[in-house]
Amino acid sequence: MNKIIKILIASDFLIWTGWGLLAPIFAVFITERIIGGTLAVVGIAEFIFLASKSIFQLIFGDYLDIESSDKRNLRWILSGSLIFSLSALLYLNCRYPWQLYGIEFLMGVSSAMAYPSWYGLFIKHLDPRKKSFSISFHSAVTEGGTAIAAAIGGFVADYLGFPFLINIVVLTSLIGSILLIFLWQPIREIEQKERAESKVDVLPVLPIQAPETKPGILTIRKYGDPILRDHAKSIKEIDDNIRKLAQQMLITMYKNGGCGLAAPQVGKLVKLIVVDIGEGLIILANPKILKKSWRRVSAEEGCLSLPGITLKLRRPQKIEIEGFQINDGKRIKIKATGLLARALMHEIEHLDGILIIDKLTFWQKWAIRKKLKFLKEDTQKLLREKQRQKALREKAKIKTEKSVTAETQKSAAAETQKKSEIQSLRKDEIQKSESKALMKIEKPIEPPTKSI
Ligand code: ZN
Repeated sequence: MNKIIKILIASDFLIWTGWGLLAPIFAVFITERIIGGTLAVVGIAEFIFLASKSIFQLIFGDYLDIESSDKRNLRWILSGSLIFSLSALLYLNCRYPWQLYGIEFLMGVSSAMAYPSWYGLFIKHLDPRKKSFSISFHSAVTEGGTAIAAAIGGFVADYLGFPFLINIVVLTSLIGSILLIFLWQPIREIEQKERAESKVDVLPVLPIQAPETKPGILTIRKYGDPILRDHAKSIKEIDDNIRKLAQQMLITMYKNGGCGLAAPQVGKLVKLIVVDIGEGLIILANPKILKKSWRRVSAEEGCLSLPGITLKLRRPQKIEIEGFQINDGKRIKIKATGLLARALMHEIEHLDGILIIDKLTFWQKWAIRKKLKFLKEDTQKLLREKQRQKALREKAKIKTEKSVTAETQKSAAAETQKKSEIQSLRKDEIQKSESKALMKIEKPIEPPTKSI
């Protein structure tokens, strides 16, 4: 187990043990010390604590996922645990049920602050080879502590009284919270290491051979266009058409200031991506993710199909992918870290109809809901206009075809008439010549002059 996991478990052990002293006899504390403290008040107090904890931990957990950094998680656990521990001091002066309910609510909210951030850190730093053991160890230690505390708590309350017991609870729990400060150093070291590792580690990729035909800029499909949600098809043969498409995508990407583009974004449903984060160009057909690191990092991300929207997203820090080079059709593997890994994953997801907005937390979605709505409306308006123009063009085409047909028919009729005229003329002529011939024939044949 690493240092972070050890400190997290030790801190949890102390906090749970502290509370274990009071928890089993809490009902007695309420009925003895609170004015009007019935068993119903005990039930309501427990309800307020658990209900507020349940609701707020969902909200806080979702919020923490927006920008999950270890330092931020630590700040949240520390604040939550300290408020939680100190709240117990309020029990000393608690006399009425409404005061008790207030304390329970405060404790519910503060433990909701600590719970998701504690688990966020714990899961992230778990040794993948010792996952089950670490989880069991945490559970065994905290439950063991609570068990011992349960046995001692009753004695302390009996012989030394509730105020003394509450002071012990606060002290133990405070020590557990303060212990978390020791997480700062290892977390900082890991963050520094991650930053140093975030440089690109990529195998060389052959430069693209320009096809002879001159490529042009393509239109980038925006959010709201249904093609972005379709699945791209695998490329069966890398031919000049694919190379030309890659060239066009590159130019389109550069002209739009992007660092990656997938074929569906230009309306072509084929598995082709181009990526250039300034560390060399990558063009791949049929790319596939082979491995993802369990360590995740968050960073800002944008998408050419979602203009004006940048979001903090958590993604694996390292990946290994494979794909085919479009020059020679060779299969290559690429190991990427940091921004390159992020860009490659982003583009590969486009091929499956996945957009960055599918990975948002509730709060992130809430924050950009209006932008998305307007973007979708704009795109749909544009698509409708395109369809209208297409329909108009087709209508015009049909009209032209019709007029052409009418004219053809007209000219055909004229031709037929001409032909018939010619024919009748010819007939006349034939008749004339025939009659002439007849006349000729009918002319008495003179006997040929004999010549000897
Ligand atoms: Zn994108």
